[in-house]
Amino acid sequence: MTVPSEKFDVVIIGAGPAGSLAACLLAQRGVSVLVLEKSRFPRFVIGESLLPQSMAYLEKAGLIETVAAASFQVKDGANFSDDHRFTSINFSEKFTEGWSTTYQVQREKFDMLLATEATKSGADVRFECGVTDVTFSEAGVAITGAGPQGPFDIRCRFVVDASGYGRVLPRLLKLDAPSDFPVRHALFTHVEDNLATKKFDRKKILITVHPRHSDVWFWLIPFSEGRSSIGVVVTPERLAQYDGSASDKLWALVAETTELRSLLEEARECRPVAEMSGYSSKVTGLCGPKYALLGNAGEFLDPVFSSGVTIAFKSADLLIEPLTRELAGEVVDWQKDFVAPLKVGVDCFRTFVEAWYRGDLQEIIFNPPADDNPIKKMIVSVLAGYAWDEKNPFVTQSRRYLDVVVAQCV
Ligand code: FAD
Repeated sequence: MTVPSEKFDVVIIGAGPAGSLAACLLAQRGVSVLVLEKSRFPRFVIGESLLPQSMAYLEKAGLIETVAAASFQVKDGANFSDDHRFTSINFSEKFTEGWSTTYQVQREKFDMLLATEATKSGADVRFECGVTDVTFSEAGVAITGAGPQGPFDIRCRFVVDASGYGRVLPRLLKLDAPSDFPVRHALFTHVEDNLATKKFDRKKILITVHPRHSDVWFWLIPFSEGRSSIGVVVTPERLAQYDGSASDKLWALVAETTELRSLLEEARECRPVAEMSGYSSKVTGLCGPKYALLGNAGEFLDPVFSSGVTIAFKSADLLIEPLTRELAGEVVDWQKDFVAPLKVGVDCFRTFVEAWYRGDLQEIIFNPPADDNPIKKMIVSVLAGYAWDEKNPFVTQSRRYLDVVVAQCV
């Protein structure tokens, strides 16, 4: 039996970082918000290394103290190794003003915390409520799906798709566009890392480039409590050369490195190795009448610079002002006020990701400009997530500036 229709100003699909932050910010402005989340929380999701820029959005929502009290591992930079070369990036050496530290977070705990804060801010957050259909009419938006109480049919004035890899509106409205990136495969797990006896800085993630194949790279993201997230990104063609289970393949690849293998020699898996393939995604448009897409439901580039959650937060932050105006009856230019500003940082990260897989950015990272060179500070700023700082030429003219620097490296 269908539950009678309820009405909200805004329905948000998905309680990941994009959905929960948007819910917090809208509810704090007095907007009636319902968040429909398919999963039961806490739930595992990949995407554990934040960037300092993301702190600005947590701060805006008044969440800094709550996140700080959750004992996540503090992060102050990133280390890069390819077994021959090693570079340490400290986010404090950045060009842009703002936060230079952040956290490495177990997402089950982090996402639960954000969803709880959205509820405290006044949003109605409902778990195990999967949205299956969204229809638009002059009168508004109808959202249907099923939850613990059976099917639901909810009306709202505006729907926000923050369903991440669920891609609810891109599928329903046929918005999917080919990604700019080829299909890549990721294998990942959590380990009891037993790193205490090793020389290892837990405040930095370690990115290891495979010593022979520069398109293969590993992450090691230390959490508090002696655990770490580890994973590898590899092309499907190369992965096909390995036999056995996902775990066998992950550890076979780790065994081909020297430093990472040594660091992980006493590591023990504490969750099954998971796999994801073809996660990069793109859409033909990020908004339309009575809807907008946030975070991964819009575009996802690549995990290499840990930009996913930062972009998800940025999109949520950019949504608030135009949406509040639209709900007040104003005509909003969504391209100008939402899409164009979001694109600045997404395009910058896209250029950095392309340069990484071309090998150019690896050359720059392993042969960095001197510490006192402003160019280094500008590159560090982007790596810290400050990809919307238009005072930084590596943001506004990323490709041109990276090309100049790489020409000096080789
Ligand atoms: P999500 O976090 O995916 O949340 C979406 C929510 O929507 C989920 O809870 C889901 O259950 C819910 N949902 C889905 N369908 C429905 C439906 N039909 N109805 C209701 N709810 C629904 N990012 C980083 O910042 N740092 C990293 O280190 C990093 N590492 C990564 C490694 C890999 C291998 C990959 C693939 C990605 C990585 N990312 C990383 C990216 C990160 O996972 C995402 O960018 C981030 O989670 C996006 O947040 P979101 O809120 O848009 O979506």
